Amino acid sequence: MKYALVTGASRGLGKAIAIRLAKDGFAVLINYQSNKEAAEDTLKQIQEAGGTGELLLFDVSDQNAIETALESWSTSHPDEYISVLVNNAGIRQDNLMIFMQEEQWNRVLDTTLNGFFYITRRVLKDMMTHRSGRIINMASLSGLKGMPGQTNYSAAKAALIGATKALAQEVAARKITVNAIAPGFISTDMTKELNEAELKKLVPLGRFGKPEEVAALTAFLASDDAAYITGQVISINGGLYT
Ligand code: NAP
Repeated sequence: MKYALVTGASRGLGKAIAIRLAKDGFAVLINYQSNKEAAEDTLKQIQEAGGTGELLLFDVSDQNAIETALESWSTSHPDEYISVLVNNAGIRQDNLMIFMQEEQWNRVLDTTLNGFFYITRRVLKDMMTHRSGRIINMASLSGLKGMPGQTNYSAAKAALIGATKALAQEVAARKITVNAIAPGFISTDMTKELNEAELKKLVPLGRFGKPEEVAALTAFLASDDAAYITGQVISINGGLYT
């Protein structure tokens, strides 16, 4: 059985991705940081559909917690390795730069960028040994065009895109692909406070995206069919101008 780790899989995009990868036959490691009930619901939906999954609690910005959780997983699965990693966990702490608190800046970069670094470095070792792997990083339209009020978030996502392109070239010889997805507005907890009625007028397709649509793209990038795609940033934004 092939294993996929999805960070931030208790809610939103991560939940939809975990459910979709399980449907595609992966055993899914459902990471979350605090919302156990929501993570258990992801697992329940996977199991009810006949899939396999397990919960993996850690904060992606906590290197020690990641090491402990993944070491313990490896010990209980000595012959297995994680062949698909979806670095999805992310947060917003919006503020204008002039009012931005250090805590807001650091927390967003710690989660998106340091989280990517700690987990990917750890999981990559086994992918290199097995000469196979898929790494998919959840970036954002904000990381491509920059969004006012989101200098921290835009910086973190732009850095994630740079890291995606660099790592793709480092590991291609080992048949590991590394790609980023850049969603526009997708209906999740993260966007529920936005004025959807107004913002959807900016989107040529006239609506916010669904988590399942991002999950379908992620599943494609995780599949064998995507073996020749690496170092790319794929936008999924309803045609919103970038
Ligand atoms: P969401 O609904 O707010 O869900 C966030 C998920 O990330 C939750 O499962 C949460 O776990 C987890 N998480 C947050 N901080 C974490 C940490 N430190 N360690 C582990 N897990 C953590 O967000 P979403 O809309 O699904 O966004 C998912 C990703 O897509 C993010 O990277 C986001 O930046 C990106 N994105 C979203 C949109 C959009 O329109 N929704 C657009 C572009 C990019 P708990 O439940 O345990 O808190």
